[in-house]
Amino acid sequence: MTAPPTKRLRGRRCLCRGCGEFFNSLSPFEQHRVGVFGIPGARRCLTVAEMRAKGWLPNAAGFWTTGKRPAIAGATRAISAISRGSYLEAGILSAPARLRVEVSL
Ligand SMILES: [Zn+2]
Repeated sequence: MTAPPTKRLRGRRCLCRGCGEFFNSLSPFEQHRVGVFGIPGARRCLTVAEMRAKGWLPNAAGFWTTGKRPAIAGATRAISAISRGSYLEAGILSAPARLRVEVSL
């Protein structure tokens, strides 16, 4: 019998029954499976060290992400809030004289 997931799976989040890691979407889940199809034993899961080496990070809820989308989403939210004049919502306590936003992809 397979144990129930220890984290709540909603939306596109998934659990790999091979390695037991949780993923925030199908993309990192599919990317963490490597190797050749059709040859027994040739497919495997990336290790935690290998995922970290690729720059992947678990999000605040503990689901692996490729580490790219949250930064983009966060920057998009901040830019949107700033455009509405809501510096507090953007995580800025007061309106800066000059604001520079950098996003690394
Ligand atoms: Zn796995």
